[in-house]
Amino acid sequence: MKLSDLKTGEHAVIMKVRGHGGFRKRIVEMGFVKGQTVEVLLNAPLQDPVEYKVMGYEVSLRRQEAEMIEVSYDIQEDNGVRFGNSAELIENTDSTCVPDPSYHRTLEKVISVALVGNPNCGKTSLFNFASGAHERVGNYSGVTVDAKEGFCDFEGYRIKLVDLPGTYSLSAYSPEELYVRKQLVEETPDVVINVIDSSNIERNLYLTTQLMDMHLRVVIALNMFDETERRGDHFNMDTLSSLMGMPMVPTSFKSGRGLQELMSEVVHIFENREGHDNYYRHIHINHGHEIEDGITHIQQYLKGNDLLRLRYSTRWLAIKLLENDKEAEDVIKELPDYEKIIEARNVAMQRVKEETGDDSETAIMDAKYGFIRGALQEAGYKMGHKNDTYKATHRLDAVITHRWIGFPIFFALLFLMFEVTFILGQYPMDWIEMGVEWLGDFIGNTMSDGPLKDMLVDGVIGGVGSVIVFLPQILILYTFISLMEDSGYMARAAFIMDRLMHGMGLHGKSFIPLIMGFGCNVPAVMATRTIESRRSRLITMLVLPMMSCSARLPIYIMITGAFFATQYQSLVMVSLYLIGIVLSVVMARILSTWVIKGEDTPFVMELPPYRFPTTKAIIRHTWEKGKQYLKKMGGVILVASIIVWALGYFGTMGVAPSLESSFIGMLGKAIEPVFQPQGFTWQLDVSLIAGVGAKEIVASTIGVLYGDGAFDFSQLTAFCFLLYVLIYFPCIATIVAIKNESGSWGWAIFGAVYTTVLAWIVSAVVYQIGSLFF
Ligand code: GDP
Ligand code: MG
Repeated sequence: MKLSDLKTGEHAVIMKVRGHGGFRKRIVEMGFVKGQTVEVLLNAPLQDPVEYKVMGYEVSLRRQEAEMIEVSYDIQEDNGVRFGNSAELIENTDSTCVPDPSYHRTLEKVISVALVGNPNCGKTSLFNFASGAHERVGNYSGVTVDAKEGFCDFEGYRIKLVDLPGTYSLSAYSPEELYVRKQLVEETPDVVINVIDSSNIERNLYLTTQLMDMHLRVVIALNMFDETERRGDHFNMDTLSSLMGMPMVPTSFKSGRGLQELMSEVVHIFENREGHDNYYRHIHINHGHEIEDGITHIQQYLKGNDLLRLRYSTRWLAIKLLENDKEAEDVIKELPDYEKIIEARNVAMQRVKEETGDDSETAIMDAKYGFIRGALQEAGYKMGHKNDTYKATHRLDAVITHRWIGFPIFFALLFLMFEVTFILGQYPMDWIEMGVEWLGDFIGNTMSDGPLKDMLVDGVIGGVGSVIVFLPQILILYTFISLMEDSGYMARAAFIMDRLMHGMGLHGKSFIPLIMGFGCNVPAVMATRTIESRRSRLITMLVLPMMSCSARLPIYIMITGAFFATQYQSLVMVSLYLIGIVLSVVMARILSTWVIKGEDTPFVMELPPYRFPTTKAIIRHTWEKGKQYLKKMGGVILVASIIVWALGYFGTMGVAPSLESSFIGMLGKAIEPVFQPQGFTWQLDVSLIAGVGAKEIVASTIGVLYGDGAFDFSQLTAFCFLLYVLIYFPCIATIVAIKNESGSWGWAIFGAVYTTVLAWIVSAVVYQIGSLFF
């Protein structure tokens, strides 16, 4: 419960003060110390400030300040009468109003902890060890994106853990970084555990220096300590710890080593009052004369605003402003001194430029790295060479990311992947096909005739059945992708593709989602999360539908099988895949030049060490991707199959005598003129409409409408139809995924419209030109 919720005359015990260090310190100095009883002297609903009595003094607090203080009713005085409100402090517990003193005690002991660190430093592993949860632990793509919450009970404390996305810094470049920042500022965790990959300590500490600026209570987990030891690294941890002003615990979350010590440091730092202990110190990194002057100058204005001080460390805000941080500018936009602050900032920036020749963003970064290097030097940091775990990685990389050798290896792997997918996938595909056929026959023979039987056989089994046969291929493709991801190869593939991708206005990391798109566009759109640049991310999402997902395969197979001689069939199929790829390149260029403008922000292409992927992880990751496909089948495809069936079964006068007189026939006839230039028949038109739900439905609808394949259109029309299917509206699930990932319906609708228009144009042009020759 918050202090501000107390009414006049009520007493309560202070539990904790939330917020950044500067704010807490001020509040604590006023006497609001944990464990003290506070009495409300006057708290009228609209009144600000509120008057309190604490430690015998009368003090007034602003309402917003009082909201940052958590309290609990004092049992001794109240005899445990009022309990209802305080239950809100604990989650996952029955919030019954039992006046049990031991229950009260547990209330005091909730510590909220945020896990912050670079990607792949072991946050999720820590989270799983501590909370017993089984979050996925991964190596490369879209691993931890949303915050996961869990808790562990430790020495009578309930430690609430939040696993945040991995970030290299806390600037406002990527959605992840913004998200982590927001969590730290708005959710004000009591303690932050900064997880560090200690085998990569210098770069990892960069994020730590930003946490220092934010004035948070931080415990550092020196993770991967097993690897550091194996390599023979050496440094004095106590020295480093005191230089950074943060306790450090060596950990390894491969084995769970150090977890107890880490948690006890968390409790320790939570219990210690600010400024009463040398153990934890707030350190100001010296950013150099001009920057520091600028910070002081800006802070003068910021400090005048109490509301702002409540939320933010003014020093941190000032540093962010000097880094040209747009989010920080938004925060101060409403301040009366806005103009003056910006002016002070600009002056400081100008001076930095004159003095160092660098922009202040770079100067701040240099200063932070200088601080880190100094601290490491002082702690006697020496990297060992014994069994360098990265030696193998370096050797492999010399070949795999080689300018010339890299590409053939990569294309050979891709070729292998698709070959195995299609050849190996054929067997289970045949089995499933047989199973589906058997099931249809079985129901057909056992059930009595009627609409229900027709619906089950023609609608459900016919529709879903024609789709589920592709599950094995998808799973095989995803197994390959997961293998490449988890072993670290995918990062290299992205690395060597980077230059090509830049030519398209994309980023090397765009490459992975594009490859995944051949399986299913939905998980592929979600995989764009690893792309830091919002621009590249958007473009990738929007061109992704050009990748022929496996849902289009049944249509390709069905139509090419019926219209083209056997020796040309695979040529036609390959041409469709290639046309899709070429179109995506063209569209990416167009989008990046005219629609989604902006400069390319360079981002680190991470090259994590190669690791042998574990079977368990591969199965889990494959399943995670395949799950999307199955979900789609159980949901939208099932429903659409039934709807298409019903529309074809019924007409204006009950059960339709022929397809043409059914609802679907009427619909097809109505839109026939639109597809005149392509020569599509009304049956094809209907299947295209039905395919909006999911592209597999195009095949199942044609299956329903044409029965045993008596097609009445030309080869050219058939090819144009395939082109149309390739390009137009991806499917509802993909559009929803684009909306979720881009955060706006606008882009989702844009994606839906442009693909459909493009499909119409391309297929019409090909048909018109083609009919001159054929
Ligand atoms: P996150 O991205 O920070 O959540 O990192 P993860 O928890 O997903 O871990 C990334 C990889 O590092 C996984 O393969 C883990 O098994 C591995 N890992 C995590 N902690 C350690 C550790 O202490 N030592 C070693 N050798 N590997 C670790
Ligand atoms: Mg993670």
